[in-house]
Amino acid sequence: MNKNSYNIMALAPNTSNKRETVCIFGTGDFGRALGHKLIQSGYPVVFGSRSTQTSSLIPKDAEVLSHAEAAQKAAIIIIAIQRQHYSFLTSLAEILRGKVLVDVSNNLKINQYPESNAEYLAQLVPGTKVVKAFNTVSAWALQSGTLDASRQVFVCGDDMEAKQMVMDIVRALGLTPLDQGSLLAAQEIENYPLQLFPMWKFPILLSLGLAAFFFFYSLIRDVIYPYVYESKDFSFFIAISIPNRICPIVALILLALVYLPGVLAAIIQLYRGTKYSRFPDWLDKWMLCRKQLGLVALAFAFLHVLYTLVIPIRSFSRWRTSNQILSLALKNETEPLNTAHAWLSDSYLALGILGFSLFFLLGITSLPSVSNNVNWREFRFVQSKLGYLTLIFCTAHTLVYGGNRFLSPSSYRWYLPNAYMLSLIVPCIVLVVKFVLIFPCLDKPLTRIRQGWERNPQYPE
Ligand code: NAP
Repeated sequence: MNKNSYNIMALAPNTSNKRETVCIFGTGDFGRALGHKLIQSGYPVVFGSRSTQTSSLIPKDAEVLSHAEAAQKAAIIIIAIQRQHYSFLTSLAEILRGKVLVDVSNNLKINQYPESNAEYLAQLVPGTKVVKAFNTVSAWALQSGTLDASRQVFVCGDDMEAKQMVMDIVRALGLTPLDQGSLLAAQEIENYPLQLFPMWKFPILLSLGLAAFFFFYSLIRDVIYPYVYESKDFSFFIAISIPNRICPIVALILLALVYLPGVLAAIIQLYRGTKYSRFPDWLDKWMLCRKQLGLVALAFAFLHVLYTLVIPIRSFSRWRTSNQILSLALKNETEPLNTAHAWLSDSYLALGILGFSLFFLLGITSLPSVSNNVNWREFRFVQSKLGYLTLIFCTAHTLVYGGNRFLSPSSYRWYLPNAYMLSLIVPCIVLVVKFVLIFPCLDKPLTRIRQGWERNPQYPE
């Protein structure tokens, strides 16, 4: 569920001083936490419970009555009870008629029941106005006041007036109601708290898959090959050298995969001559998780930076440097400065620094607190123009690292090229296709298509 696509109702809170009494069925964790918050916000609260005995856990300004008595005192009744216990509500049907019932319930599994809990409640007690709300807010957050992460309250219901009353309460509690439409949306709202990183699954699995592939690839080339042919034990490469090879490779491929769907979408639109036909589902899903792909890529790039920082203090690096100095001293030779090599090395580092800085900037601008403060054009400038520039810098960084090693036969062990060469395939494809797409003969029709022009309109103008 994409939170950003919801319609945030920015209406002013109900400012009248007199708050209507709110009834809560159930004195469990959630009922008590919500009751406490409602009382703090100035609402008289009455609890409907199986036991009318009050306890120290129940907010002291609240009344505890039987369900029937409590229901008669309020127009809005919040059902803070698990769905499996709803059946007793049928006996209160007459008292509840015409009242607003707020279903806050969650399930243990996604799509656990054929219909949503809110729809079930509406069927069970006909003549009531059922509104789904509050299920994404936890009792703990309500009680501790740490509502920063869960300030949004998804609300849905078939009765506009009832929904509006509930949204007024949500606002009065300092939360943000997000109108999701009719009660048909309740199932999706109930599934929402049960989703496990929905947008992150693909990027994380993909990055783990790539990391595992390149780990074994590098193990074969850099550890097993020298062991078999030169009897050298480079198994310690597993700790730093191989991870430091995998991280930039995965980061670069993932960064290219952020921009590949945009390029594919452009080709599809050019081919179809319209923007009004749906992309294939896989492309839609891929587009939706580009931000997450980019952030996972940034995490790998960050690890690469950390691994690179420790290279000078590695025992292997110190041994290699001192060995080189020693062998030159023994031969009584000095090595003249290779300016071409110095240029290559400095350019490689400079491109890496520039690429990582822009990458970091992209990551920061994707944070909601930052992206909310830039307009659409600024956001597109950073994510698209600077994004491509980042891809160019990072690809160039890798190309310069390779230098002319592409041509050296020693780069191919068991016919396997160096892993960084494989990492260049996707970025180079994306950059070449993007370069072709900015030619006016393709860019102009694409811009017109994106403005609504159709090559073969279905209906004559
Ligand atoms: P809870 O602590 O188990 O409380 C449920 C309450 O339901 C009980 O205290 C009891 O109140 C009442 N109840 C239990 N069995 C009943 C029965 N057979 N007949 C009538 N009433 C019965 O659960 P909770 O954590 O407060 O959750 C309540 C609802 O809020 C659930 O639907 C849950 O999915 C939803 N929710 C909870 C949270 C959370 O963070 N806990 C967050 C969002 C939504 P009395 O003893 O007063 O009758």
